[in-house]
Amino acid sequence: MSEIDLPEDHPRYASLLTRHRIEAGVEKGITSKQGLIAQGRGEAFDYLLGEQTIPSADAAERAAAAQLLLADHPVLSVNGNVAALVAPEIVALAAAVDADIEVNLFNRTEKRMEAIAAHLREHGADEVKGLTADGRIPNLSHERAKVDADGIGAADVVVVPLEDGDRAEALADLGKTEIVIDLNPLSRSAQTAAIPIVDNIIRAVPNMTAHAEELHGSESETLHTIVDQFVGSDALAAAEEAIRTGAQ
Ligand code: ATP
Repeated sequence: MSEIDLPEDHPRYASLLTRHRIEAGVEKGITSKQGLIAQGRGEAFDYLLGEQTIPSADAAERAAAAQLLLADHPVLSVNGNVAALVAPEIVALAAAVDADIEVNLFNRTEKRMEAIAAHLREHGADEVKGLTADGRIPNLSHERAKVDADGIGAADVVVVPLEDGDRAEALADLGKTEIVIDLNPLSRSAQTAAIPIVDNIIRAVPNMTAHAEELHGSESETLHTIVDQFVGSDALAAAEEAIRTGAQ
């Protein structure tokens, strides 16, 4: 039995676990009510993908791990859904690839920023960025544009899970290499990403960490080859194909 009192081989285990964590996130003041809607959209796509990591997503997670290991200043962006779903897993990924963690909210309030930062610290994060907010992403409205100048502002590679399309596009326009985790292969965020990962974040983040641990210590040439061999548009096409032909 697990945290939701269901056997892990239950056919809808992933969706029930995800719902449970999001609900707990709302109760804790971490996840917004809009986050529930984003969750519903993701769940529909996960159902169509058979609640599994398809091979193209695993390849994307491996390429993402290689890209993060090659980065000079990688940052993992965390919003309310991400914090509720995978806080300890984000902390583990940050440690595996030596990345910063930064809180970034679509509906930014100082109270929720603080609650998410505290939640991440409870799960082992030493430093959480995003509260200083002394940098701006151009071409976005005021609150949504806020970042830390020495966090996402200075990053070369950014992981943006469950991100809205405008923000993902604005970050890509700034020249950041974007790794997007999004179950909808048609979303603008996934389409904008250098490395789109079409997988549930609860499977994607631990799998990225496993790949990073396995690739740790590899020659940079090997890592570059893994990144270069990954083609984002092929991965998106493979995900669409899996949805259409019924991966489940
Ligand atoms: P766009 O502007 O790109 O169309 P959007 O308006 O769909 O984005 P949101 O409503 O913020 O943006 O949706 C967040 C995205 O996150 C959705 O595409 C949804 O499929 C995805 N998503 C939700 N839950 C998960 C999850 N657990 N794992 C991965 N992706 C998820």
